Amino acid sequence: MSETFDYDLFVIGAGSGGVRAARIAAGHGAKVAIAEEYRVGGTCVIRGCVPKKLLHYAAAFREAFEDARGFGFSGQEAAKFSWEALIAAKDAEIARLNGLYLKTLRNAGVEILETRAEFAGPHEIFLVSEERIVTARIILIATGSVPFVPHNIPGAAFAITSNEALDLKRQPSSIAIIGGGYIALEFASIFNALGSETHLLYRGPQILRGFDRELRDRLAAAMTARGVNIHVHAEVDRIERLNGGRDGYRVHTRKGLTLEVAEVMYATGRQPNTFDLHLEKAGVEVLANDAVKVNDYGQTSVPHIYAVGDVTNRAQLTPVAIREGHAFADRVFGGRDVPPLDYETIPTAIFSLPEAASVGLSEEEARARFGSENVAVYRAHFRPMKHTLSGRDARTFFKLVTAGENGRILGAHLIGEEAPELIQLLGTLVSMKARKADLDATIAVHPTAAEELVTLRTPGNPYQPDDAS
Ligand code: NDP
Repeated sequence: MSETFDYDLFVIGAGSGGVRAARIAAGHGAKVAIAEEYRVGGTCVIRGCVPKKLLHYAAAFREAFEDARGFGFSGQEAAKFSWEALIAAKDAEIARLNGLYLKTLRNAGVEILETRAEFAGPHEIFLVSEERIVTARIILIATGSVPFVPHNIPGAAFAITSNEALDLKRQPSSIAIIGGGYIALEFASIFNALGSETHLLYRGPQILRGFDRELRDRLAAAMTARGVNIHVHAEVDRIERLNGGRDGYRVHTRKGLTLEVAEVMYATGRQPNTFDLHLEKAGVEVLANDAVKVNDYGQTSVPHIYAVGDVTNRAQLTPVAIREGHAFADRVFGGRDVPPLDYETIPTAIFSLPEAASVGLSEEEARARFGSENVAVYRAHFRPMKHTLSGRDARTFFKLVTAGENGRILGAHLIGEEAPELIQLLGTLVSMKARKADLDATIAVHPTAAEELVTLRTPGNPYQPDDAS
């Protein structure tokens, strides 16, 4: 006699990956439940990409007001900014999106359980607030990730993370942000543009380790020119509270730098959220950093238990979690043969000011992989037309990395207002294995910044960083 279960699929975590998987599986006819302990929508919608981008838009207005002067506008210098109004508007939008997610799930026939869920056995899930156990034939772990704060730094507990930064009651007069990745750069840009004295403390020689070195250097210079104080080789040693925190904090680095700031924020990565899930009760294996161990198809060490998104620590990006969730549901409940994701060619954007974006191989990676003599780089570095009148000393930077006789495009690295929008389609070109000649054959759209990508003619010199690190 075959075993019967309460559900065909039980999803733990209603973030980007879990919601997509639940909805698609239900569409394939599965009986699905999804459990969420906080708010449906997950990190991206509730306290990540979406609210961050709304704050990023606000930050960009500061520059737009300044630039408008060159176009004949006056009086906007008197424009007053209210942090409280921005946060309230952001909260209203997030509440709307939360409602939409709930509606989408309900319309798809998914049962929503607003409770924490933990494993009680291989097919058994304990619903904490309801104090009962349910069973499922297939279980999907989609619990995402949480900010990582190093525990060995005295005073680190006084710092906020991106979770709290998006909900601060008041804008800090000054802030020290620790880290040199996406979140550190994005929040440093937001606080700086909105008027907080902003310090970014990064432990290494240059921000954005892993990205194209030239992009890293140029972005650091451009952010510095806009007012962000970037301190490299700045490893934080301890954080002191001043007057119990009422007068802010003093941050000490190993090399003796001290900064007194109103707020300290850690942006030092995110860790898979497997705390107290009791994976051991189901026999699910984890990696050294507590990420759920999965194969190329998101299957864990227990064949009927799968995991998608940040909890697997492959690429901590919303569209990746969505793609993994969708593919899981199509494979397991739709009988479709969906191939594994290509994790190498993922376009990404950093919503810093200026914005930056990247896809594929950096110049360094390409030279190492294909031999330096086989790699050609093309650059455009120009003052965008808008700034001929605004007077702003800002430049757009485009770089293409190509290899071989036919000039296959291996990577693209961009800085400037259009970068996040452009990288989407450049990502398609890299995935298609397009060649530089394909860009050359394309008629330019004039006047745009993007036309520079189809008019790149002469390869440039290999990039030489000043400190060669
Ligand atoms: P990142 O991995 O991008 O950056 C982490 C930073 O913290 C690195 O500079 C790292 O330095 C530093 N760091 C790590 N551990 C320590 C430590 N113990 N002490 C001091 N510094 C440390 O993580 P984020 O937190 O910025 O973002 C988390 C994830 O969220 C990202 O991986 C990204 O995928 C995603 N995200 C994507 C966004 C987007 O697509 N626009 C926006 C925001 C987040 P080092 O390089 O030296 O290791």
